[in-house]
Amino acid sequence: MMKDTLKKMDTNLQNVVQYRLDIHGENILMNDLIGKQIKIEWSGVVICGCGKKMKKFYRSGFCYECFYDSPLASQSIFKPELCTAHLGIEERDLEWEKNFQLAPHYVYLANSSGIKVGITRGSQGVIRWMDQGASQAILLAEVPNRRFSGDIEVSLKRFVADVTNWRKMLSGNPEPVDLAQLKEELSAHVPEELQQYILPNNTVTEIKYPVTQYPKKIKSVKLERTPIIEGTLLGIKGQYLLLDDDRVFNIRSHEGFISTFSHQEIAQQGLLF
Ligand SMILES: [Zn+2]
Repeated sequence: MMKDTLKKMDTNLQNVVQYRLDIHGENILMNDLIGKQIKIEWSGVVICGCGKKMKKFYRSGFCYECFYDSPLASQSIFKPELCTAHLGIEERDLEWEKNFQLAPHYVYLANSSGIKVGITRGSQGVIRWMDQGASQAILLAEVPNRRFSGDIEVSLKRFVADVTNWRKMLSGNPEPVDLAQLKEELSAHVPEELQQYILPNNTVTEIKYPVTQYPKKIKSVKLERTPIIEGTLLGIKGQYLLLDDDRVFNIRSHEGFISTFSHQEIAQQGLLF
């Protein structure tokens, strides 16, 4: 069942990001499909992580039960500053929460559509940046649990955004920013008891995406409204497929949609004589 659902693409940082889509038991290198015709056809059914099938998700990619019961959908998932496992206080499932929260987390600055502050778990940093379509990123702090990263993020939200403006991200490359300089300036606003976690290393990761053409007037397409989406793939950035006619498709927001994915060469008149 899960093998025919859309999932976010796997990413690999090379000269340009390499994207792979795992579907129908195949692992498709999406970069190879740029300039070709792709087609996504939704069956009309979605499947929750718990295995329940339905016509649509209740909310945020979960069924009703999971949205209210699963630790994956708890408040602190969306607001890390509400994490309490480091105090031994349960939200929905203390064992799960300890396992998830009591691990090294990073606070970073990324430039995708302007600067944003974000947090990520363990070694997920670069993957998170590629998923967000960031062009540059720097680690700001390494902390021993998720709550501390949430506290740092909150302290910096007054100065920089904590969400990506995806329309701006998909409209081109952002102006480069001196992230090391910015990190130094923002670090002064980190609460004193968390200053010890600021990382001295100022390595900036630069990321390029396989995009041949950016949309001019972005039209976001969704399977709920258009169950068959097909067209020429013009590029990939973040977890968005850029299609002809200024259309963009967020593959991540369609996780769990049971669909077929296919592709073919575009018939070129010049090659036919
Ligand atoms: Zn569920």
